[in-house]
Amino acid sequence: MRLRKITAVLTAVLMLMIMIPAQADANSVTDLQKKSSQLSNQIKALDQKIKEAEKEKTDQQNLQGLLTSQVKTLKEQISTKEQEIGLISKEIEVKNLEIEQTEHQIDYTYDLLVKRLRAIYMASGRSSLEVLLESESFSDFVTRVDMVSRMSKHDRNLIEDLTLQKNELTELREQLAAKKSSVESSKSELDGSVRKLNQTYAKTTESIDNINKQVTQSAKEKQKIQEELRKNEAAIKAAIEEAQRKNMQQNFVGGDFIWPLPGYPTITSPYGMRGSEMHLGIDIGGTGVNGANIVASNGGTVILANGNAGASSYGIYLIIDHGGGNITLYAHCSSLNVSYGQTVTKGQVIAKVGSTGRSTGPHLHFEFRVNGSTINPLSKVRYG
Ligand SMILES: [Zn+2]
Repeated sequence: MRLRKITAVLTAVLMLMIMIPAQADANSVTDLQKKSSQLSNQIKALDQKIKEAEKEKTDQQNLQGLLTSQVKTLKEQISTKEQEIGLISKEIEVKNLEIEQTEHQIDYTYDLLVKRLRAIYMASGRSSLEVLLESESFSDFVTRVDMVSRMSKHDRNLIEDLTLQKNELTELREQLAAKKSSVESSKSELDGSVRKLNQTYAKTTESIDNINKQVTQSAKEKQKIQEELRKNEAAIKAAIEEAQRKNMQQNFVGGDFIWPLPGYPTITSPYGMRGSEMHLGIDIGGTGVNGANIVASNGGTVILANGNAGASSYGIYLIIDHGGGNITLYAHCSSLNVSYGQTVTKGQVIAKVGSTGRSTGPHLHFEFRVNGSTINPLSKVRYG
């Protein structure tokens, strides 16, 4: 009686000891898968960041294009203003010459007038002539001439006309000078605009430099996380293999293995070498396969149920342990109908066909492993 009790306790302890490591492995797989999922999310976030930075860069480059064309237009306007300034300067020069010539003519007429007056006054005594010739300026002279009323009207008119002409020329020259300074100030405004645009352009160049640095930084970060993800995936694989190894002691459930995708007998990619890569299972597909029912090839226990599409190249997938070292794997599903630890019966719907993970279209990737190594599923599973 007492012995039986002890045996019962021992059996219970033994069972716990067997169960705990398997549970621990499964937990560590779940943890690792969580980590993979987090890393995948980080990569996604970085991709988004890089995408946004590239968009901002494109915006800045477009702005640069706009600024360049604006500067070009302004420079054309400045060149027109410069030509205008050149023309006005020449006109002013011409006016200066004309003014100079008019002054010469005034001087010449004045000299003639003096000579004539000298002739007139030769006979009539020197004192009055001397008074006139002492004039300090033409206006002074005119006053004196008026005073003595000896000057001929013709000469006076001529000098007055010339003076008027000179004044008009001076007025024109002043107008030209005003026009020139107005053109010069609008040119300098344009110069200012060009300076501002060039400053803005320099800022965009700076922004683009910063964006490039950011992108490089993000790409580096991404590479680091990808490496971590790769290691994590390897750790998941090792943990699964470890769990499988520990589960080998369990007895095989027995019976035949049935086709995991009822109604879809087409193998789109067989087991074996595919180029330089080993294809570890068979791909089953066909028209309308997306969302089709995937069934358990045999009875067993779900030892892995990964519902996160981004965490693995298998996408959403599950593994069933059939005991005796036999496990089956169903990958790229769109959804799972079972969860970790669940017991399943042969033919039970366990998942739906999808295209998650590293997949180019909806299909079921089906693997068969015996004692941890893959075998051609067709050697175990009843076809079709
Ligand atoms: Zn495949």
